[in-house]
This record gives sequence, C-alpha cells and structure tokens, in this order.
Amino acid sequence: MRVHEIEGHGFSGNIFLIDSEKPCLIDAGWDPDIAYCTEQIKQILGGRKLHSIVLTHRHIDHVGGAMSFYGEYGGDLYAHADDAQALISGDQDSTGAKMFGGHIDPMPLTPISEGDRIDLGGGESLKVIHTPGHTVGSMCLLGPGCLFSGDTVFADGGVGRWDLDTGNYSQLLASVEKISELDVESLFPGHGPSVEGNAAAHIGLSLRHLRLIGRYG
Ligand SMILES: [Zn+2]
Repeated sequence: MRVHEIEGHGFSGNIFLIDSEKPCLIDAGWDPDIAYCTEQIKQILGGRKLHSIVLTHRHIDHVGGAMSFYGEYGGDLYAHADDAQALISGDQDSTGAKMFGGHIDPMPLTPISEGDRIDLGGGESLKVIHTPGHTVGSMCLLGPGCLFSGDTVFADGGVGRWDLDTGNYSQLLASVEKISELDVESLFPGHGPSVEGNAAAHIGLSLRHLRLIGRYG
C-alpha cells in the first residue's frame, strides 16, 4: 500500500488516500479545500473508485468533504459507533459545524468499533483502535507499521483538545497510553506534518505532555 497525503489548508484536516487494491480515503477535510482535494484524488485514482471512506471522528474539519467525495468516487462510509449517530443524523452542534459557520448533510454511514478491520485488498487491512478523549467516538487506524491518528495525537508530542463537546481529558490520557504501546514507524495525524520513522517516539512525547498537563493544569 502507498499513502498519499493531501495536506489540509487552513482549518481543514489532512486527508490520506491509501492507494491499495481497494483504495481507502481516511478523513475528508472541509469545504474550502474540496475542489483542490477532488482533483488530487482524481489524479491518484486514475479512473478507479474508492472502496471505503473512513472518518476518524465527527468534527466538521474532518468530515465536511465526505458527501462530496462519496458522490464523486463512491466507497462505503465508516465512523466509530460512538460518533456515527451524530453524522447519520446531521448534528450541526457536536460536529462543530454551527460553531465554525459550516453545515453537514446527514451521512449514510456504517458504524464500526474496536478491532474491526477495513479491507484494503491484497491481504492488507486497517484495524480500528477506539481512542476516545478528543471526541467520544474518536478512533485511530492501525496499518502495517503505521498509525492514522486523527486528532488524538500529532507530530512532535502534540495532543488533541479535549474541551469540545464529548471531549474528556481522562479518556484522552488512557487512549494515548493505549497507542503508545504500539510499535509503529509512521504517524499520519489529522493536522500538521506526518512522521516517517520512529513514530513511537513522537507518541511517547505526546503521552509525556498529556501527563504533565494533568499534573499542573
Ligand atoms: Zn477534531
């Protein structure tokens, strides 16, 4: 599998397109970027369709483009069960749509949970790791040697905020402890730069920061 990063501009989150036998899109960015992202995806797919669109959590900067890409390239839509209902019903509040002046349409998605796998074809898959804390239904996706971390952790010890709707510091800490035990080389976070090599050290730094915040915050 090959991972193409479509970097989020401004407020929009990063999008990752896994170029495998069954192409998979991870996250969908947000409106201001849609024309640019659609063109990028089109070039990579070269006439193929998507097999899956996986949303790491409910926030508008990660899901705003989902229905547009779904319409253009197909693919089954997935989100963790604990964030899925907000997206199925088109909840404008807990997705941050209203707060950030956007809008989301209801999505025909399938809820998934801990341990489920997204088939990439060719014997490869992504495993769902439930990592609540940034939102209650945030998840990371574990691939061969790599982790797609959404807004749970970022490069260089960054951590997602836990002060938005359904966010929770204790849950976030437990989630980062959980992923810090993974042996991963590459980290593909929802915002900012990706990490190629020694990703586990970056996650370890996120854990340290989070523990320090808990002690002094
Ligand atoms: Zn978020």
